[in-house]
Amino acid sequence: MVTPRIGILALQGDFEAHRKALARAGTEGFEVRKAEELEQAEGLILPGGESTTMLKLLREEGLWEKLLRFGRSRPVFGTCAGAILLASKVTNPEQEALGLMDLEVERNAYGRQLHSHVALVETEEGPLEAVFIRAPVIRRTGPGVRVLARYKGDPVWVEEGMHMAATFHPELTSEERVHRRFVEKVTAAALGGVR
Ligand code: GLN
Repeated sequence: MVTPRIGILALQGDFEAHRKALARAGTEGFEVRKAEELEQAEGLILPGGESTTMLKLLREEGLWEKLLRFGRSRPVFGTCAGAILLASKVTNPEQEALGLMDLEVERNAYGRQLHSHVALVETEEGPLEAVFIRAPVIRRTGPGVRVLARYKGDPVWVEEGMHMAATFHPELTSEERVHRRFVEKVTAAALGGVR
């Protein structure tokens, strides 16, 4: 089987862990720092890290508009800070975002005592181990958004058309389901399938 070409935004954050997670899911990912690299990708992962810093670097590298354009025709998967970048509205504090998914996201929403924690979240296929690190909470999902996992009632893994977001870090566990699903979405989109 031909595996899709998946780029991982590598300006800041835990992009290396995503490369390893993709490898576990049977796909080789490559790092994206420049527009030429983005053009090679059929799908893109926005990793966890610090969304404010990523935003600043994306602007400085002249990648912001290119990423917006990329996301109109190709799948993007954001984890934690990446999910914040994908949202349509960001609070705590307010911050610019790509608006590729109809989500309202509150940053650092678990408070200081839950800075970082591991929990089992619920999916239709059973529980999934999730690592949360200064995670945001998805406060609102638009009508086109499908919730794939919840934690304490809040959506933590969602998809909308070809895009996907998780407020936790699937790249930090041995869990393969989340990355596999993204690989399938990129494969489908590259074949001109579901959007
Ligand atoms: N708290 C970070 C932010 O607001 C996200 C944390 C993460 O990606 N692990 O951007």
